[in-house]
Amino acid sequence: MRKVVVTGGAGYIGSHFAHFISGKGYEVVILDDLSLGHAKAAGDLPLAIGNVGDPRFLDSVFGGGDVDAVVHFAAYSKVAESMTEPAKYYQNNVCAGLELLKGMERHGVNKLVFSSTCALYGEPETLPITEENQKIPINPYGATKLCFERMAMDLAAVSTLRPVFLRYFNAAGADPEGRLGEDHDPETHLIPLILQTALGQRESVSIFGSDYPTDDGSCVRDYIHVTDLADAHLKALEYLDGGGAPDAFNMGAGKGSSVLQVVEAARRVTGLSISTQPAPRRPGDPSTLISSSEKAMRVLGWRPEYTDIDIIIETAWHWMKENPDGYDR
Ligand code: UDP
Repeated sequence: MRKVVVTGGAGYIGSHFAHFISGKGYEVVILDDLSLGHAKAAGDLPLAIGNVGDPRFLDSVFGGGDVDAVVHFAAYSKVAESMTEPAKYYQNNVCAGLELLKGMERHGVNKLVFSSTCALYGEPETLPITEENQKIPINPYGATKLCFERMAMDLAAVSTLRPVFLRYFNAAGADPEGRLGEDHDPETHLIPLILQTALGQRESVSIFGSDYPTDDGSCVRDYIHVTDLADAHLKALEYLDGGGAPDAFNMGAGKGSSVLQVVEAARRVTGLSISTQPAPRRPGDPSTLISSSEKAMRVLGWRPEYTDIDIIIETAWHWMKENPDGYDR
């Protein structure tokens, strides 16, 4: 059986992927330091607790010589936090990431699928965003992800490493079967915050900015379902198995929803009134991010399935109603 190491596999997107490929017959080992992840999200999959920046920990995981590929999710991913604590982001996303690349090289593991982001494009000059758009990140989070991509490409030029970068737009939703969901503490992401408000756990949702150059003045994002992302990572592994060269792919549904439209959709799905309140723009937020995922569809054969924002929210709502306090609390 093929063995895949999933770093950050106890986190939101990583856990969805780990269970997804386990269900497809892959042997999975989750690496997670549980600083943000949840042991319960790993479920019955093997979990090695440690940090990817620790060479000895990596040697213990790769030592058996049977790891076929690494899918690297472990990272910090909050735009606002990266603006106030950039060093923490460079340390984890770049320095620890470099240790992972070195560890893979020491043990002859050369297939890598990396959890990248549309944040590396910054404020786009043209929409929809293709992989060729200029890459001028406007927050340290995006800068650290771009830095990792460049680092991996430079190493790939002089080694057998073959990285594939999947640049997600806004990951959202939850396992349609209700087994896994999104649980951050503190929560900063729009859809879970809206649903926590629907549950009565918060009084209202702040709408960050009302004067963006968009139809309703709020930011527009391209929400992509976490199960579609899990499938994309599997397709990327298959691409590498087929001898695919290093490359980068955007992952979005190809359509934009404004913050106010997402709130409206959540009202439809939950049937509940959800209060909002205007708030200043959040530093580091571009106005509009919409993906062209044409390349991923053409090269990887990927087709996002859950592209309707109501359905995305419905899957998140299903999990949140069953798990109002998340995994551990
Ligand atoms: N947002 C908002 N209020 C919140 C949280 C987020 O208006 O309480 C907006 C945010 O400005 C962005 C969008 O919702 O335009 C998505 O933000 P999120 O943090 O979910 O994802 P990100 O775009 O940072 O990856």
